[in-house]
Amino acid sequence: MKVFKLCFLLFLILICNTANAVVQTLRVAVVFDTFSTNYTAIERTNITNNIINNLNASFNGSGLGSYINFTLAINTTDSISVAGDTLDYLKFKYSVNPSLAGGIKAVRLTLHKIQKNYTADVVIGIVKPSNWLTTSICGTSVNIPNTSQITNTFPTVASLLKKGDDGILFLNARDTCLSRVYLTAHEVGHTFGLHHGVSVAIYNNDWSHYPTSILIGTGAGGYGKAGTSSYDYGTIMTAFNLGLSEAKKDNRFSDKTAYKCGTFDNQICGDTSSDAVSIIKANAQYYNQRGAWYTYW
Ligand SMILES: [Zn+2]
Repeated sequence: MKVFKLCFLLFLILICNTANAVVQTLRVAVVFDTFSTNYTAIERTNITNNIINNLNASFNGSGLGSYINFTLAINTTDSISVAGDTLDYLKFKYSVNPSLAGGIKAVRLTLHKIQKNYTADVVIGIVKPSNWLTTSICGTSVNIPNTSQITNTFPTVASLLKKGDDGILFLNARDTCLSRVYLTAHEVGHTFGLHHGVSVAIYNNDWSHYPTSILIGTGAGGYGKAGTSSYDYGTIMTAFNLGLSEAKKDNRFSDKTAYKCGTFDNQICGDTSSDAVSIIKANAQYYNQRGAWYTYW
């Protein structure tokens, strides 16, 4: 009788564990640069709330709401840029891995410190670069994890996707940038290992937008149609890189199984090379371990 009860209990545990996929809640730190921005506390709160709300809307709208959601860890100000560094320069500064001391990562720069203190999986630096009014660049992620980065220290794709500094990105504090509902989801998508994809590579005749040999997965690209008709459309990772207006971009990640894109919400949202939703579902648990990077790895 006791054996039967034990078996029944184990059976229930098994059922519960498989039936309820755990939603990965990613903690977001939003850091406003004290050198180049001077928002009021209310303005910072509004911008921060928009970022979190837009992120969750993009992921929910992509059918990823039961896999990933975003919550605010901290909204703060700190010194990020010096003399209005460009976004490219900030990316360069942060792309050098923080040093390791006895297997524990050492804090090197402002956003590392905040990431550690608040165990943030996503760290967003809001800055006005020196060319903030003229540059076409509204955001940049420090690194797009890819298989060329596999080393003895990071022997698997999963280990790359857990890296804390792969969760750091910068946004240009220009109203016309921050008002883009897709902007943060696009940059977070890059930190998840997603590239712009085949349609952008063809549109720009530049295959760095879909580097097949180093992708973390075949579907790690955005989907879109450009230059064919007035009904052209894009997804989050193709976004502005196809020259489409805001109204012509679906607030969705590419998905080869969904016919929910385009002007009438009935066009396919992806194909084999553009299946970001599958990539994100498969790796959600790793993206959620970036905040712990400073305490163990
Ligand atoms: Zn991009």
